Amino acid sequence: MRQTENILERIAKQGIVLGDGGYLIELERRGWVDSGWGSEKVGTGKGCGQFTPEVAIENPEALRQLHREFLNAGSEVLQALTFFGTREKLNRAGYGGQTEAINDAAVRIAREVAGNKALVAGSVSRTQLFEREGRSAANHVRDLITEQVRLLADAGVDFLILETFFHLEEMLIAIECSRASKLPILATMTFRPTLTQCSDGHSPSDCARKMVDAGAAIVGVNCEQEPDRILAITREMRKAVSVPIAAQPSAFRTTDAVPCFTKLPQFPDEMESIQLPRNAFERFAEKAHEEGIQFLGGCCGCNAAYIHAFARGLAATTETAQRNVS
Ligand SMILES: [Zn+2]
Repeated sequence: MRQTENILERIAKQGIVLGDGGYLIELERRGWVDSGWGSEKVGTGKGCGQFTPEVAIENPEALRQLHREFLNAGSEVLQALTFFGTREKLNRAGYGGQTEAINDAAVRIAREVAGNKALVAGSVSRTQLFEREGRSAANHVRDLITEQVRLLADAGVDFLILETFFHLEEMLIAIECSRASKLPILATMTFRPTLTQCSDGHSPSDCARKMVDAGAAIVGVNCEQEPDRILAITREMRKAVSVPIAAQPSAFRTTDAVPCFTKLPQFPDEMESIQLPRNAFERFAEKAHEEGIQFLGGCCGCNAAYIHAFARGLAATTETAQRNVS
């Protein structure tokens, strides 16, 4: 069942909407997603860099269960697991022929669990081609994302989350491709290796302005940093634009020297040693309102316990607000 209220109406009504957590890392920990670590030399730019979403067709029950856990913890949005679901990325992992089936199944499973309790978002990520091939990949990227957006819209998502883009240029292509669907667009950049510039040299405020100008209805940042560090980015964005700001931090402790977990030596096989406690997310939720964040979710390393912590933090601020009024 599709929700009649869209994400923007829900944000306007509630002030803050709670999303879900990270799927691929959690499902990798549970044994259902391949990190690619055992089969290729990661970081060379030559391998697949796996973390692809074929679990949607190979082990749908594992995916269904994680959706259920997020919903039960308080998520008001479930993201279909279509991250890294463009045809070329799936092809590198050996699943290109199942591009339609994977995207379709992922949306269907999210919708089944969401019922009338949560919105369903289609996830569109960077293709990795800007990192692998440079700007000459732009036309190929446009074709790949156009295809995936069409698959997600046909499968019936309520809105699109464009996330984990390192290059603003690729993000702007993705927004342009997404506008054809007429669905609301939530667009979040990821900052690596610094907090002050994305990979093609744009500041957080510049990214926010350009994403809004291109047609995103909600903009923000996701992945790579823990809540305290990601705030530096959302504050810049908040000052630059008037649309709702989204924040989906990861749950790994990074350092001043390396403020992104995928560049730390612990990635991907020692991340338990840099896992952040969930109460950091409760505190972040308590601050979200005053920081002007209106869409709150978790990225890599966030399972249902972290979403539950978010929900507790949001409930605490609501109670405080109500007490102040009464
Ligand atoms: Zn992430």
